[in-house]
Amino acid sequence: MTSPVESFADLGLGSALLKALADIGYETPSPIQAQCIPILLEGHDLIGMAQTGTGKTAAFALPLLEKIDVKISKPQALILTPTRELAIQVAEALQSYAHGLPGFHVLPIYGGQSYTIQLKQLSRGAHIIVGTPGRVMDHLERKTLNLDNLKTLVLDEADEMLRMGFIDDVEWILERTPAEHQTALFSATMPEQIRRVAQKYLVEPREIKIKSATATVAAIRQVYWQVSGMHKLDALTRILEVEEDFDAAIIFVRTKTATVELADKLSARGYAAAALNGDLNQQMRERVIEQLKSGALDIVIATDVAARGIDVPRVSHVVNYDIPYDTEAYVHRIGRTGRAGRNGNAILFVAPREVRMLRTIERATRQPIAPLTLPSRADVTNKRVAGFKEKVAEVLNAEGLDFFANIVAQISEEHNVGPEEVAAALCLMAQEGKPLQIAGEDPAPPRPMPADSRDARRPTSFGDRERKPRFEGGDRPRFEERGDKPRFEDKQRRPAPAGDMVRYRIDVGRDHGVQVKDIVGAIANEAGIESRFIGRIGLYDESSTVELPAGMPAEASNALKRTRVRGVPINLRPDEGRPDAGGERKFEGDRGGFKKKKFGDR
Ligand code: AMP
Repeated sequence: MTSPVESFADLGLGSALLKALADIGYETPSPIQAQCIPILLEGHDLIGMAQTGTGKTAAFALPLLEKIDVKISKPQALILTPTRELAIQVAEALQSYAHGLPGFHVLPIYGGQSYTIQLKQLSRGAHIIVGTPGRVMDHLERKTLNLDNLKTLVLDEADEMLRMGFIDDVEWILERTPAEHQTALFSATMPEQIRRVAQKYLVEPREIKIKSATATVAAIRQVYWQVSGMHKLDALTRILEVEEDFDAAIIFVRTKTATVELADKLSARGYAAAALNGDLNQQMRERVIEQLKSGALDIVIATDVAARGIDVPRVSHVVNYDIPYDTEAYVHRIGRTGRAGRNGNAILFVAPREVRMLRTIERATRQPIAPLTLPSRADVTNKRVAGFKEKVAEVLNAEGLDFFANIVAQISEEHNVGPEEVAAALCLMAQEGKPLQIAGEDPAPPRPMPADSRDARRPTSFGDRERKPRFEGGDRPRFEERGDKPRFEDKQRRPAPAGDMVRYRIDVGRDHGVQVKDIVGAIANEAGIESRFIGRIGLYDESSTVELPAGMPAEASNALKRTRVRGVPINLRPDEGRPDAGGERKFEGDRGGFKKKKFGDR
């Protein structure tokens, strides 16, 4: 649909990478991947105009990995990113794609991290360096980073590097790379200065632009929900319950794995739901679609490719649970509803950093997409009560009520209560397992979404320090990117706490609009852990990691199990997930402490 290329195998990637991609659950290349990967594999220079959410990271990461010679423990590729979190994110992505390449090392280097640690890591040898320009420049100057073996240089989010005042550093680095190497430049926009850099340093670059063809999507009501303060799954079920004229839905996610996970979760919540993905053979796919048609299923969770061409008139809703890669995919997805002259509804979930894609879709479809207010608990309760009343009303007309009316009269007499109380007791029995009221609280209203994505695109993970200028009022902002020592606020917020630390995972992340300070505040308040003893915090999309002193008393961990951040239960548990690729994360020194007044001596 969005790309003629059906599989990563068609792009010339080797079996180790193909297996890793299958394990992660990527089904087909996104359009930018389909176009960029062959060009980069062939060794051409490339200009890719793509924003976050299009899959651009894998578009350059996969060809890099394909070309790495793991036997040579020297940097063969350098990726420059504007911020430290993007460096970490890209390094993590590389690590996950390189699952089948034993001995592969990627190293993120960025300002604010100790040189001693970085020097140690550099001397151990890394195949790919992902770094912020200032720190890469420092290492080149000190000759602690050697690019003699460099095969590829990637400039990621070049326009952001320009906006943040790093373009001179980038050029300085470009001047010092070996003459013979491939360069790929990715940028969401192409300001004049970036164009000039491309002309100067790239050799006959191929240019790839993800087209955003305009299209009409007239008869469909389109709304978006800004992901914030609540898990997407909880929001989804609230929305589906309250939507008028809901009949059936197709929910779009990005990976095969996600189709199965979401189908399981929705089934557990009582929905007739099933996954539809490329792992199903034709017969199984047809069966799922037949079941959706007949009403045996109400919800199908699909990837783009698997849902291609589905024509089921009763699909009243399409939910873009994960935002699509481009407008073409969006238009195709929402075209699954509003068929055969019926009304259609399209709901789009947009994380704060995906707002640029939302605006692109609006421009391409020439229609504004209205914000959707998440139904409140009261809305859901009212809807359930209305449904319950309707059911009772139906039964009131049924035959055979006399027998039960007699029983009600007996109960009423035996317990000396009115018939209303007996009826209330019966209602309580009837709703067992399907309560009329939902638990939990309403989330705080989302922070307003900016008209453009610049500010919202990628909220910082480790405090706001990357984006704060070091010198106020200079003609070119310099960002706190190079210094060895954290600034005062950072020391307050993210020190190296003393003692052994344990990493935990919590169920709130960027998608909930959560910032580092929210997590620190909640943990400090609820568990009585002074903020200086809270270690590193890593924000991911749907979850986060937080390092806390080892040996946490049960009282504190119980308090944290009940803690909420921006209204969402955090569900703190030891992190068994992916290893953090964010460099050295060890803390040295004596054991850090909990407030004694709360937990007593330990
Ligand atoms: P990016 O635009 O590189 O920031 O990627 C956005 C998101 O899309 C990330 O969560 C990726 O893991 C995911 N992603 C990238 N490529 C694919 C693919 N071919 N199939 C499914 N998900 C993908």
